[in-house]
Amino acid sequence: MNQLNLDHASAAVEFNKDEPRVDWHDETLWFVRTKRDRAAAQLPEWEQLREAASQIKNHVLSNMHDLLAQFEENAKRNGITVHWAENADEHNAIIHKLIQDAGVTRMVKSKSMLTEECHLNDYLTRHGIDVIDSDLGERIVQMRKEPPSHIVLPAIHLKKSDVGETFHEHLGTEKGATDPQYLTEAARQHLRDTFLTRKVALTGVNFAIAETGGFVVCTNEGNADMGAHLADVHIAAMGFEKIIPRAEHLGVFLRLLARSATGQPITTFSSHFHRPRPGQQMHIVIVDNGRSRQLGRPDFRNSLKCIRCAACLNTCPVYRRSGGHSYHSAIAGPIGSILAPNLDMKLNADLPFASTLCGSCSNVCPVKIDIHDQLYKWRQVLMKEGYGPGSKTAAMKAMATVLESPGLYRMAGKIGRGVLRFTPVLAENRFNPWYNQREMPEPPAESFRDWYINNKKA
Ligand code: SF4
Repeated sequence: MNQLNLDHASAAVEFNKDEPRVDWHDETLWFVRTKRDRAAAQLPEWEQLREAASQIKNHVLSNMHDLLAQFEENAKRNGITVHWAENADEHNAIIHKLIQDAGVTRMVKSKSMLTEECHLNDYLTRHGIDVIDSDLGERIVQMRKEPPSHIVLPAIHLKKSDVGETFHEHLGTEKGATDPQYLTEAARQHLRDTFLTRKVALTGVNFAIAETGGFVVCTNEGNADMGAHLADVHIAAMGFEKIIPRAEHLGVFLRLLARSATGQPITTFSSHFHRPRPGQQMHIVIVDNGRSRQLGRPDFRNSLKCIRCAACLNTCPVYRRSGGHSYHSAIAGPIGSILAPNLDMKLNADLPFASTLCGSCSNVCPVKIDIHDQLYKWRQVLMKEGYGPGSKTAAMKAMATVLESPGLYRMAGKIGRGVLRFTPVLAENRFNPWYNQREMPEPPAESFRDWYINNKKA
């Protein structure tokens, strides 16, 4: 069953049907989380770096307009063409027009979660443009017609054998091959041809620097560089929150990003783009798509501090055991669950409930976003706006009525204990979602109140 068409809880049930895969997914991501811990522990100034990053981003949120205007001015001076997109449709249309203007129908694209958010590939494919994702994980899921399940490790839900099957089907590798070296070499040859023949390349943006008008793209594969350096037209797509004030701030974020993401001291390639090379065009598309709205929500604005390291995904016990596709949104996991309701409250009302609120996400976040607090606050907003699950709303109302009345509370307790003791089938059946996930408790012989009264008398 396609997990993407289900709500989070139902999709998680599907994912959990393959228990060995769930265990492996859980353990793999926990391994990445522990690598992050070791990398962080090696820097005595780790907490100071987090605090500095958080303060810089707070400054950015409070000065967004001025910093973006400064960036635009400097980027234009450098010879970069700046485009503004209010929403996903505008973003997609601008990129389509740039491809048409270049007179081509093919484009190579490195990893950009913004283009996933805007569904750019679908849009371009519908308009006759052939897009090849050049990040290895993204290429694998693109061949399988799946979205990425993780913002840093897009194919983390797949095993080597899955990749072997996919490459056999699409690249003609040997059937049953699982050797990573062999499979990677096949992908390398396939992508090299793509790099050499595409005239237009799209990259994401990790950081855009207001002071210089330049931007930085971080990858481990060098695929963004290969695409951008060989193409006649380089398009960079950026959510407006990627702005930072000065070049000297980069060091803070680059030291935090890779350590938080994979436990590496730095991404293998941190490429700085300032101007097009002679004869090349360079465009940057700055996108709002609901970010202004989020900036205007006092309780949720600091979710825009996110640098997409995925540490909150790797540590989340719910993400690790439900898989990225169960979030039915471009960005999965805890950060996705506080960004997605801003885009569409009705469609994503289930996501803030996909959390234990244990707070591990907030503890690892390199820019100190209060993720679990925001998940909790979104729940309140969604219930108030009427987007909560109907069954939960009714259950909460009934619970409030019972808790408001001591007499009703005593009677409900007596009935509950009686049901569990004499007719457990009334509680232990598949229509009770609580029972589906848990063992029901042994009923006590008496309530605490009765016990207290009896023992007090004695
Ligand atoms: S919310 Fe924090 S931990 Fe999660 S991806 Fe963003 S920066 Fe990383």
